Order: sequence, then structure tokens, then C-alpha cells
Amino acid sequence: MIPSLLRFSLFGLLLWAATALQAAQRLTRTELSMQQQGMVDVQTLDSTIRVSLMYSRPDNFMGRTLYEDLHRAFLHPRAARALVMAQRYLKEEHPEWSLIVMDACRPMHIQQMMWDKVKGTPVENYVSNPARGGGLHNYGMAVDITICTERGDTIEMGSLVDHMSALSHIDREAQLVQQKKMTARAAQNRQLLRRIMRKAGFKPLRSEWWHFNLIYREEAKRNYRWIR
Ligand SMILES: [Zn+2]
Repeated sequence: MIPSLLRFSLFGLLLWAATALQAAQRLTRTELSMQQQGMVDVQTLDSTIRVSLMYSRPDNFMGRTLYEDLHRAFLHPRAARALVMAQRYLKEEHPEWSLIVMDACRPMHIQQMMWDKVKGTPVENYVSNPARGGGLHNYGMAVDITICTERGDTIEMGSLVDHMSALSHIDREAQLVQQKKMTARAAQNRQLLRRIMRKAGFKPLRSEWWHFNLIYREEAKRNYRWIR
């Protein structure tokens, strides 16, 4: 009696676990489309990398949700593998911290929406123009990223991700600290992020401390397709 009951419970548990796993892996339409275009979900390569896509929420520079059904960070396999290395380098120095992805592969129609919002404004140069082939996010070759603690709180970086001003430029940090517009700790944290990302092969962007490209735009346009 007892063994059969146990067997039944075990079977039930396994069935429940399998169903839960299937549900967790079920991709939305956009996620499936990215996968079909050759992108990979970075968390399938390293589940310790955190993801919190800023365009899946309304509190971004656009003031509204752009990703209705995208919650996972998809990247080109080359960029995804490099990101796994960056996470490893971070954990060597700070085992309790993690990289947290704020944006990864971005479909070109979303890029168009962003461009339409900024074109002709003073912040136009922060967004790539789709008519000129977009930017590296559109190829899954760029990430917007910061660092968070074990609890998921982002560490101090001197300005928020997507804050479009000189406060986010990486070539003015010493000056900003001197002028007391940024703390020395924030500058150190930015340097840590750049160090591990560079070591993994990414290149920083002068105007956005959170943005990193794996390759140059010319290489992307020549060898890869942008994501629809
Ligand atoms: Zn970016």
C-alpha cells in the first residue's frame, strides 16, 4: 500500500515538475521570432546572469512599455558567450554580485519607435537611426548592462541606465567626481564594469556607461542581419 502510494506521489511530482519546466521554457511570439533568427536566451547559457529589461516596463525614456511580450535577454551567440565570460570575471572578484541585463537584442521596429521619439531633439545622437542600419542592439551584438547585489539591487553608478546627459559619459568621470556630481565609489563601480566587459571582448561607448558593443557596426552590417 505504502510503496504504491509513494510511487504515485513520485510520479505526480515528476509530472508537475515537467509541466512547470515546459511552462517556464515557453517562449512568447517575439522571443520565438528572435530564436528563429538565430539569437539565444543568455540565461540558458548562464542562469546566474540577471535580466530586467527596461523596455518591458513603462519607466524608461520612452515613458511606455515597448516590449509587450519580451522578457528574456536574447543575443547573438557570439555576444551571449562573451557575456557569460564577463559574468565569470565579475564573480571572480565579487562572487555575491551579478551582471544584470537591461536591454539586449532589440527588434528593428522597436528601434524605429525610439528613433521617431528622439529625432530632431537634443538627444537624437543617443539613438541609432534605422534608415542607416540601426545600431548593434538590432544585431544582438550589444547589451545595456549594470551590476546588482545578491538581493537584486543595482550598485551605484553615478547616473541611471538610459540617463541621457554628460553625467553618463565615461570620459568625464574624474571631472565629475572632482565637481562632486558623482561619488568616487560610483566611478570605481563603472571602472569595474568596463574592466570585466572589456576582458570578455566588449567595447564601451563614450556616451553611455551601461552600453557595450561586441563588434563594430561596419562588421555587423557586412556579416550579419538585423533582427526583425
Ligand atoms: Zn544600448
